[in-house]
Amino acid sequence: MKKFIKLVLFASALALPVRALCSSAWVARAFVGAQGYVQIDDGVYAARDLPLEERRRALTALHAARGRIAGTFGAPVARPTTIIAANDREAARLGLADDVPGTAFISPLRTEVVLNLAHFSIDVTAHELVHAEVAQRLGFWTRAVKLPVWFDEGVAVQLDRREPYLIDCGAVGGQRIREVRQLTTVRRFWHGDGGQIVRNYQAAKCAAADVLERHPPRTLYASLARLAEGAHFDDVFGPEPITP
Ligand SMILES: [Zn+2]
Repeated sequence: MKKFIKLVLFASALALPVRALCSSAWVARAFVGAQGYVQIDDGVYAARDLPLEERRRALTALHAARGRIAGTFGAPVARPTTIIAANDREAARLGLADDVPGTAFISPLRTEVVLNLAHFSIDVTAHELVHAEVAQRLGFWTRAVKLPVWFDEGVAVQLDRREPYLIDCGAVGGQRIREVRQLTTVRRFWHGDGGQIVRNYQAAKCAAADVLERHPPRTLYASLARLAEGAHFDDVFGPEPITP
């Protein structure tokens, strides 16, 4: 009987993390092929009934986004499972937060990129594919432990030409750059209201651009490889520059 009680306690202790892992959005993405979605390209899924012209629109943007990455950082090698949601309802079911046009879900098992066709653009697609590429080059744990979130976002925003990010970095003061470099974790970066978060992205773009001045974009993959081999972020990308 004691054994049985222990087993019940053990099972209930496990239940919470297992339930979190198996949230309905997680399940929807993990088993996307079994939920009315079909592969429309290598690793790219869309609902079976998505009209042909919409499929074409998604695939054209994916191709253009990969081209944008190749033109700046070099040919991408990541092949994330990419799921095209037709609308807000589908996007929410796959785990996208309200009004978020796309997200890269990066886990130890694989990277899934969900894109919402209702807010679709090459900018968003390129942004999320950069996250997937960086994750692929670093591996899940190196990325989680060594990569500051401001740098991950700042590099992704280099290829994101949406209006709020078309900012003249010359107009962003050294103080803001120094502050954003403190936002190393998800919790710190996505803190505050929507306006603050956009300002974080803008400053992150400029802070990353500053790093890329000293370490040209074409060397990014080689630098990430050094991180993956054991080097620390500051050893590879340099410490915070002394700016007025
Ligand atoms: Zn991002």
